[in-house]
Amino acid sequence: MYQALLVDSSFFDLLLRLDEELARQAQQQGCACGGVLHCAHYRRKPRGGPSGLGPQHEMRFSFCCAVDGCRRRTTPPSLRFLGRKVYWGVVVLLLPILMQGPTPPRLLRL
Ligand SMILES: [Zn+2]
Repeated sequence: MYQALLVDSSFFDLLLRLDEELARQAQQQGCACGGVLHCAHYRRKPRGGPSGLGPQHEMRFSFCCAVDGCRRRTTPPSLRFLGRKVYWGVVVLLLPILMQGPTPPRLLRL
């Protein structure tokens, strides 16, 4: 069951849509200084997902404040990317379960 998620591109499409919504909310909220946030997305190349995902899946949503003197970067939370890990977040979370089986703490973390 868990392995199927890692090769299901529609699951990754869902994660992308949820990330787009989180990004939209972050941009709408604006910078802590009150400035408008401009798009400053950047490309990541996570490993471990289904083959054939489009380039939109490699985009980490991020914003930069438009106010001179601030220019603070705002990077909303993501369901696809886990910090600076090189694998998809879901792969990082599922790997212990796939290798060693589910335990209550592992399922709770998921
Ligand atoms: Zn600002």
